[in-house]
Amino acid sequence: MKRLDITRPSHGTVTALAQDIYWARFDLPFRLNHINLYMIDTKEGWVLVDAGIQSEETSRQWQALLAGPLAHQKVAKIIITHHHVDHIGFAGRLQEMTGADVYMSQPEYEKAHWLFDYGDEDFSDLIAEVYGRYGLASSHIELARSDKGRFTRYVAPLPQVQFLKAGDSIKSTHGTWEVRIDQGHSTAHIGLMDKERQLYICVDFLLPRISPNVSVDLRDIDKDMLGAYLSYLKGVSSLEARWQVFPGHDWPYQGAGTRARQLIDHHHERLQLLREAARQNPISVADAMGVLFGKEFEAHELYFASGEARAHLNHLRALGDMVQMQKGGVDYFALSHP
Ligand SMILES: [Zn+2]
Repeated sequence: MKRLDITRPSHGTVTALAQDIYWARFDLPFRLNHINLYMIDTKEGWVLVDAGIQSEETSRQWQALLAGPLAHQKVAKIIITHHHVDHIGFAGRLQEMTGADVYMSQPEYEKAHWLFDYGDEDFSDLIAEVYGRYGLASSHIELARSDKGRFTRYVAPLPQVQFLKAGDSIKSTHGTWEVRIDQGHSTAHIGLMDKERQLYICVDFLLPRISPNVSVDLRDIDKDMLGAYLSYLKGVSSLEARWQVFPGHDWPYQGAGTRARQLIDHHHERLQLLREAARQNPISVADAMGVLFGKEFEAHELYFASGEARAHLNHLRALGDMVQMQKGGVDYFALSHP
């Protein structure tokens, strides 16, 4: 992997990555303290890729860009790659500011809508039910229950949306960006590839430094999301070294294939840790979280860590290495061939 030798954009500026694509970097109020947003130059106007979180800081940054480096043409389209708050949060306000049409994949929009409309009480009840099946301590369940409005705090309003599907494309001033839809970090995440020029806006699927979170959906906790993500990684592991990758966090780089193989190895190591942990006794999701992440979590970390631990156990079950059983309302996973 090779980090591209380009200056990272500061507040109110963009950095050119090719003739038709620009990079901006917005602050986030999380431990992951920034997000990368991209702007594609087309004959119809700008196509913006992702909006940032809903906050006054994001509003200031967009005002500076729209009045500054992006001012010479209108915004034609806004693409929201997936439903996570740092990508969709400001989309509704950005639509109001620009009058542009907003595009998402249908499953990501439905997930955002569900999170937006679901009441705090209903959400707390669902979390408590799922965390009970995970075998989490009652203190953890109460912590999750007290974390109200996790989505709506950072997202308002939801945009009016039209749908994109795999194979759709965006014609830019210098190339063609093809839409791909992948599953793993989220269910139907949009990426954009210019195959001719070997450029890939991967957003959250092939981050250069962090292993992207791979979680099950609270409404479908048995799904093999890690299997889906590993299939994606296998697919992109054949991309040649000269492909340039533009991620949603950290920095643009070359070496998509190398990075994909590192992430595959990372998950295989973690699957092996869980096989070893289950050697004596069947393990719950809470046990698996201890093996993968340690024991102390804040409410939102609990959500991602438990979802990722469950995704790993589901994958071991899908491989035929583990069987799932229930005891006292808790799901346990045991080695198929101890
Ligand atoms: Zn994400």
